[in-house]
Amino acid sequence: MHLSPLQACEPTKTPEVDQNALYQRYLAERDKRLRADGQKQYVESSADFADIYDVDPHTPVAPRPPLDDDIEVVILGGGFAGLIAAHRLLRAGISDFRIVEMAGDFGGVWYWNRYPGIQIDSDAYCYLPLLEETGFIPKEKFSRGDECYEHAQRIAHHLGLYDKALFHTMVLSLNWDEEIHRWQIVTNRGDDLPDRHQPW
Ligand SMILES: Cc1cc2nc3c(=O)[nH]c(=O)nc-3n(C[C@H](O)[C@H](O)[C@H](O)COP(=O)(O)OP(=O)(O)OC[C@H]3O[C@@H](n4cnc5c(N)ncnc54)[C@H](O)[C@@H]3O)c2cc1C
Repeated sequence: MHLSPLQACEPTKTPEVDQNALYQRYLAERDKRLRADGQKQYVESSADFADIYDVDPHTPVAPRPPLDDDIEVVILGGGFAGLIAAHRLLRAGISDFRIVEMAGDFGGVWYWNRYPGIQIDSDAYCYLPLLEETGFIPKEKFSRGDECYEHAQRIAHHLGLYDKALFHTMVLSLNWDEEIHRWQIVTNRGDDLPDRHQPW
């Protein structure tokens, strides 16, 4: 049977890449952008902008009492990185964790950003995580923002993460306590969340 070049599906021919030269190029570009004032370049929001973190335009903030939890791991952020971290922990047999998130739901950038036309520019099959596990088939090659947000929620439901989430909770500081070998995590909701894991 004769196959056209497309049907033959040959392995992709990738050009030789000088990885070291590429690395040096990225390093040089990064160095051009590094500023001597480092963290000081950022301005702490105050006055009219101070409450910007407390206002969630999508979900009303519900009051809750502070938590005094003794947990194994705390995941900071419920975007795709946090969701994947949760997935890997569960796969490793660790279920004693909490996900602390400023937003009112999972999704990260896809929770916060909902302007018209928002879309990814990576192929959805590469971008959206855990497609096989959740059985989801992206509708378009470049998913729209609502599909990304819904997929984050799908993952969270699939993995049973809603019970482990602390939404509308902002981490204010992280301090490693050498004496008790724990992270002391301070949040804007007055929680006391000692995390037993050393930094990775
Ligand atoms: C419009 C748009 C299009 C994009 N398209 C692509 C694409 O095509 N391909 C690609 O690879 N990437 C794309 N990105 C980048 C996108 O940021 C990443 O793909 C990915 O979603 C980042 O996930 P994350 O979990 O690392 O971070 P985030 O999604 O930013 O999640 C971090 C979470 O941490 C929470 N958080 C932060 N600080 C605190 C704190 N102190 N206390 C509590 N919670 C906190 C935030 O509320 C947030 O929900 C796009 C981004 C946008 C906005």
